[in-house]
Amino acid sequence: KKSDNLNCIRMYDEALHPAIEMRATLENDLAFALQGNQLRLYFQVQVDEALKAVGAEVLLRWQHPSLGMIAPDQFIPIAEDTGEIVPIGQWVLEQACQQLRQWAEIPVMNALTLSVNVSAVQFNQPDFVQMVRDTVLRSGCDPHLVRLELTESLMVRNVEEIIMKIHALKPLGMTFSLDDFGTGQSSLSVLKRLPLDELKIDKSFIKDIQHNTYDSFIVETIINMAKNLGQTVIAEGVELQQQQAILQAKGCRLFQGYLYSRPLALAEFEAALQAGIVA
Ligand code: C2E
Ligand code: CA
Ligand code: CA
Ligand code: CA
Repeated sequence: KKSDNLNCIRMYDEALHPAIEMRATLENDLAFALQGNQLRLYFQVQVDEALKAVGAEVLLRWQHPSLGMIAPDQFIPIAEDTGEIVPIGQWVLEQACQQLRQWAEIPVMNALTLSVNVSAVQFNQPDFVQMVRDTVLRSGCDPHLVRLELTESLMVRNVEEIIMKIHALKPLGMTFSLDDFGTGQSSLSVLKRLPLDELKIDKSFIKDIQHNTYDSFIVETIINMAKNLGQTVIAEGVELQQQQAILQAKGCRLFQGYLYSRPLALAEFEAALQAGIVA
């Protein structure tokens, strides 16, 4: 029978391509994640040399109704393909700004910056500047505490347009960081023209910095370059005290990584900061 054949083919496909099947499931369910209240913000502390908490990066998680907690690497690329990243990204920014507004009343929390990841797909929307401006102003938070993390993948696009958008937002007071720095192919001439406040050294260079002289040299070069461009530099993925010591000796003053804290849910993050665990 024809239907048997179809069943057969379908079972064969599922067995052979569980990843494709999974992707289809996630793609389908992602459309309901936002309205279904399934997305969660996690916060990972950023510290200075004195190990004082100066900010946090906002990291998204998806509490899937049947699959459990899903990491962003598994669903952000899908959300970028479907376009769902646009409303999701706006929601993340809204939540971050509201959080800053609430922390404004709390002495231990009120000076923390929040770094929000911005997808290239989101940044390239024609109304991106308006959306960010409206969201930040409506929230009543201090825009100086909002940092937008852009990635090098953005830089393949029209650089003039990128510069224009950053310049349009900077007068509000917010700052810009270039995430995963060193993994892309942005040229120095482009980098020099972008009004960025911070470079974030990708964790792939930090991982083996204690034995790999090549990585160590690259990191040193990035730190010196950032200094010459008048940008601050933060290292992500710091897991060992030894890595911090090497980074510090090279002039890096800001750190983020499991050495200080994993990304935490809001209540845990607030409790950790108030207990002085990461301050
Ligand atoms: P990312 O922006 O490079 O974020 C840093 C990632 O490194 C996070 O993974 C963080 O949990 C992880 N990490 C932090 N410290 C350490 C460490 O010491 N060692 C190691 N091995 N890893 C560490 P996470 O939370 O799984 O996020 C993965 C990626 O998903 C992020 O990479 C970012 O590209 C994307 N992402 C997360 N949230 C958002 C969001 O709201 N919007 C967008 N567009 N992308 C997001
Ligand atoms: Ca980031
Ligand atoms: Ca990064
Ligand atoms: Ca990354």
